[in-house]
Amino acid sequence: MTAYKDLSREELLELKSGLEARFEEVKAKGLKLDMSRGKPSAEQLNLSMGMMDVLHSGVDLICEDGVDCRNYGGLDGIAEAKQLLADMMEVPKDNVVIFGNSSLNVMYDTVARSMTHGVLGSTPWCKLDKVKFLCPVPGYDRHFAITEHFGIEMINVPMTPTGPDMDMVEKLVSEDASVKGIWCVPKYSNPQGITYSDETVYRFANLKPAAEDFRIYWDNAYCVHHLYEDKQDYLIEILSECKKAGNPDMVYKFSSTSKISFPGSGIAALAASEANLNEIRGMMKVQTIGHDKVNQLRHVRFFKDVHGIVEHMKKHADIMRPKFEAVIDVLEKELGGLEIGSWIKPLGGYFISFDAMDGCAKAIVAKAKEAGLVMTGAGATFPYGKDPHDSNIRIAPSYPTPEELAVATDIFVLSVKLVSIDKLLGNL
Ligand code: PMP
Repeated sequence: MTAYKDLSREELLELKSGLEARFEEVKAKGLKLDMSRGKPSAEQLNLSMGMMDVLHSGVDLICEDGVDCRNYGGLDGIAEAKQLLADMMEVPKDNVVIFGNSSLNVMYDTVARSMTHGVLGSTPWCKLDKVKFLCPVPGYDRHFAITEHFGIEMINVPMTPTGPDMDMVEKLVSEDASVKGIWCVPKYSNPQGITYSDETVYRFANLKPAAEDFRIYWDNAYCVHHLYEDKQDYLIEILSECKKAGNPDMVYKFSSTSKISFPGSGIAALAASEANLNEIRGMMKVQTIGHDKVNQLRHVRFFKDVHGIVEHMKKHADIMRPKFEAVIDVLEKELGGLEIGSWIKPLGGYFISFDAMDGCAKAIVAKAKEAGLVMTGAGATFPYGKDPHDSNIRIAPSYPTPEELAVATDIFVLSVKLVSIDKLLGNL
């Protein structure tokens, strides 16, 4: 394979006309494909259909400690749901509060509460001139949407293969008291599939923030979402590390069963220190008399315990793995050695992150759309939707069928090639 940059102008033009002909052929098919959002496929959702059978009019809905799940009561979750989620999140049961159907909702509320009421007695953030959040990039667009919504200034921190650039994180957190938080997806990150190294976690736990109300927003959405049984990333548990480091209150750890059972109908949880949880319960009791305990019970009766979740995730992996491999295979076969893009082959999570040549991502996404393929908008993986290099594209392989995926990835690589040639020819 000759790198495109080493081809002459004539060679590039010749290549371009062949690729354009192929692109027109695909376009003429009038396809409608979507690799834009990390939604499980129907086949994956079917894995949890047994959950519909565990509760019916013939079973009792009384939970372990005698609470009747059909009625009010139990503000912060039923005991067995706390145990299930605590085991999944690798924290003691007493450090867990169960919420409703969405962890993103819990993150939003956590920022909102800090804005209006402060954090453990600190000045409410809305009364401060400036509030900043660190945003490892590329990252999750919906995190950035929350902080943007509250007018919080977002500072990009580049991701490395071991997690965020910790020199930068340490410096900003320790020197600037207006830095109040950092968004983290520490395992199989969205979108790169990177897991933070041991050293990164230790450095997080040992941060010395200038702001007493600085918090790490540790969104462990993909904690059990491995693709392989024999090759898995391992993440050190942050809550206990923070405790050991004398920073027990510095982290909020979020998770949910969204991509385990049913997105939008799962259960969400927050793990944190006792002091943090007590403050949060104080707000919760004003917001609600309690979340959906019937759904909590349904999850527990279906999964039984964390081993049930692990077994269940193997079934998800069996569906997801061929899809990831199909995309990676096409990328390797079609783009390997051309030096017009790079990508990471993740061991878990929901995404493949692709980096095009600088200045090409928006044009690639637009080109793919011409042929009927919807990708996540270029820039979405950065705060304010602004990728300073216009290079990162998030590929979400979970939803299409394997057949659709093969066609979709072909359209994608064609688009990458055509746009890269234009860039090298100086047409962009
Ligand atoms: N965090 C991350 C990193 C995600 O990728 C997603 C879903 N795509 C969520 C949170 C949303 O989780 P939930 O459904 O629990 O709100």
